[in-house]
Amino acid sequence: MPLPVDLPIVDHHCHLSPHGEGVRAAARFRSAGGTHLFLATQNYVPDVPLDLEAYRHQFEMTESLAHRIRADTGVVVYCVVAPYPVDLIRAAERIGLPAAIALHTAALELAGRWVRERRAVAIGEVGRPHFDVADPRVRSASEDLFDLALSVARDADCPAIVHCEELSIEEIARLGRRARAAGLPPVRLVKHYARARFPVPSPERISASYLAKRELVGQVLLDPGPWFLETDFLDDPKRPGAVLDLATVPRRARWVAETRPDQVERLRIPFEEAIRAVYGWSPERDERSGA
Ligand SMILES: [Zn+2]
Repeated sequence: MPLPVDLPIVDHHCHLSPHGEGVRAAARFRSAGGTHLFLATQNYVPDVPLDLEAYRHQFEMTESLAHRIRADTGVVVYCVVAPYPVDLIRAAERIGLPAAIALHTAALELAGRWVRERRAVAIGEVGRPHFDVADPRVRSASEDLFDLALSVARDADCPAIVHCEELSIEEIARLGRRARAAGLPPVRLVKHYARARFPVPSPERISASYLAKRELVGQVLLDPGPWFLETDFLDDPKRPGAVLDLATVPRRARWVAETRPDQVERLRIPFEEAIRAVYGWSPERDERSGA
């Protein structure tokens, strides 16, 4: 059943793998009513990238998957690329911290280049490991690289999608100030996998990409934007159900339409207005997708 409003249906953060369900998962998203995916890169092989070529190859796999999805399903796919923050720890064990820092720096710069060349729309995921890192040198290097990621996003004129632990209200403001200090408007820093409602908008507030759980969607639906909805789908056959299924965002949109028909217009925030406010452009319309 199509939505009673003319809207794209957008999952703002997912991963797909050529070794997992891949294009078939996107087809499932499409059948459920989904129209646009923000596809974040990931390591597609068990080993962490140890040279820049490996990162280039990884980004290219994300891009080719995006093209195949578009061609086979009509779903519009936007790529999000960056070296995964946790990679630094594993690379440091293998090639030493200085070489790992140099590699991570080069990979961030490569990601910025991809955005400038319009092969990607954002830098992500960047940030810091979501767990405690024992080695203080590695910890401080990941903080420095996070700041570098923010300036790469500033220079590429795009958002940065942040991977980090769940944030308190103070930490949300602290991250906003940190973005501003790097020259990136706080609104362009997006906390992905947000599982709790963000405070009311302020000049320091970063943006939220909420996990599309029913209860959370119900809580934030009337909140002012920008905010997004996502599944963080992992497409990992070894971890079924680790995150939400890729069909969740369209199902959730239908749930809103059915249970709160008077609020269905609010979906314009995650599916259109937030993209305009954070990315600076509108989601493109694909004739085949009907969105
Ligand atoms: Zn992710």
